Amino acid sequence: MSFVHRRGGNHFLQYRNVPDDRMDEDSTELLRWGSAMKIYEKAPAKINLMLDVLHKRPDGYHEVEMIMTMVDLADRLEMSALPRDTIIISSQAGYIPLDEKNLAFQAAKLIKERYNVRSGVYIHLDKKIPVAAGLAGGSSDAAATLRGLNRLWELGIPEEELKELGSELGSDVPFCVTGGTALATGRGEVLSPLPNPPQCWVVLAKPPINVSTAEVYGRLHAEQIANHPSASRMQEALENRSFNEVCQQLGNVLEQVTLTLHPEVAHLKEAMLRLGADGVLMSGSGPTVFGLVSKESKVSRIYNGLRGFCKEVYAVRLLT
Ligand code: ATP
Repeated sequence: MSFVHRRGGNHFLQYRNVPDDRMDEDSTELLRWGSAMKIYEKAPAKINLMLDVLHKRPDGYHEVEMIMTMVDLADRLEMSALPRDTIIISSQAGYIPLDEKNLAFQAAKLIKERYNVRSGVYIHLDKKIPVAAGLAGGSSDAAATLRGLNRLWELGIPEEELKELGSELGSDVPFCVTGGTALATGRGEVLSPLPNPPQCWVVLAKPPINVSTAEVYGRLHAEQIANHPSASRMQEALENRSFNEVCQQLGNVLEQVTLTLHPEVAHLKEAMLRLGADGVLMSGSGPTVFGLVSKESKVSRIYNGLRGFCKEVYAVRLLT
C-alpha cells in the first residue's frame, strides 16, 4: 500500500491547465477519477456542556463524565474513490498534518485494513473548525471519514461497529460518529444518548494560544477538585428542556488548570458574560470559550464586542 499526501486546494482544478506530459501519475489519476463516485460528509464541532474528571485509572486514562452536544460549525469532507491502493489527503488549511498524523488519514487506513479494502480514496478536508481548540475538529473528521467510507465502499458497517473502530482512534471519535447530545463516561467512549438542549445561539471565541490536552490532564489533580459539576443535574435540565437550568449547570473541571496557565481564557469568559451571554464555559481542555445565548438580538453585540480583541469568533446555532 502506498500513501501520498499533498498540501493545497482542489487538485482537480489545480492541474487542469497542466500539459499531460508534465503531470505525475497521482495527478493524472486524480483527474481521471475526480469525476468518479464522490461522497460528502459534514464534520461538526462539539462543545462540552459539562466535563468532570472522577479519578485517574490504573491504565493512565482519566475516568470522565462529560455531556457533549454538536454545534453548526463544521468541516466539510469530500471523498472520491481511487482505483489504486492509496490514501491521499489534501486541505486548504496550511496548519494541519496531511500525512499519517492526520486523523482522517488514520480513520481511512483503519477501515481499509480492517475490511480488507483494496481500492483507495482521495479526501479533501475543507477545515472550518479551529484546530487544537477543544472542539474535537480532528475527531469529527475521523468520524466523518468512517461514515463516508462506509458509504463510498458500500461496507454496510453498523453504527455500533463504526463507534468501536472510532474508539481506536481517540476518545471523542465514538461520540462524533453519532453526534446529537450524549453523556460520555469511561475515558469518553461509553455513550448514553440524551435529549438535545433547547435551541439557542452559541458564540465561540478562540484566543490565539495553544493548549496541550495532555498537559492540562497532566496538571489536574483529580482528588483535589473541590467543586464537581453534576452530570445528573445537567441531564435533568436537558430532560426538563430548560435553557436556564442548562446555563446554571454548565461546568468544566479542566478550567481550573487552563485558566491558571492562560489567564486570557478567564478574561474571555468574563467578557462574554459582561456582554450578555446567558451561560459561559470553556470547551474541552480549551482554549475555546463558548457562550449560550437565547435572544438573537444579543448575539451581534456579543460577537462584535469579542471581535474587538479576539480574531477567531463564531456565532452559530446548536445542531439539534
Ligand atoms: P479535542 O477537543 O478532541 O481535544 P481539539 O479540538 O483540541 O480536540 P484538534 O483540532 O482535533 O484538537 O487537533 C488536535 C491535534 O490533532 C492538532 O495538533 C492537529 O495537528 C492534529 N490533527 C490531526 N488530524 C487533524 C484534523 N483532521 N483536523 C485537525 N487537526 C488534526
